[in-house]
Amino acid sequence: MNRAVRDGYCVRSTDPDEQIVEVLQRFAMEAMIAPYTRCIACNGSLKVVAKGDIIDQLEALTRIHYEEFRRCSECGKIYWSGSHFGKLEARLAVIRAAIAR
Ligand SMILES: [Zn+2]
Repeated sequence: MNRAVRDGYCVRSTDPDEQIVEVLQRFAMEAMIAPYTRCIACNGSLKVVAKGDIIDQLEALTRIHYEEFRRCSECGKIYWSGSHFGKLEARLAVIRAAIAR
């Protein structure tokens, strides 16, 4: 069965963030990091969309507190920089710092 895998890599770490760093470094993919460009539901590409075009699909508080949105070109899911955004940015900074070492 393993003969079918010609260019595989066995990830050593059990920590998800370390695994990301391992894979990015192993396959020299550091320059390919492009956060917030793909849909987490279907991997479709995200495109900036005007708030006015989607305002009827937003929850009341989202409508009030956010101005910038992206929409998946495949499934239509809408994204914005919500309350979790700071945690994502911090996690990304740690991963980028680990890659740079
Ligand atoms: Zn999607």
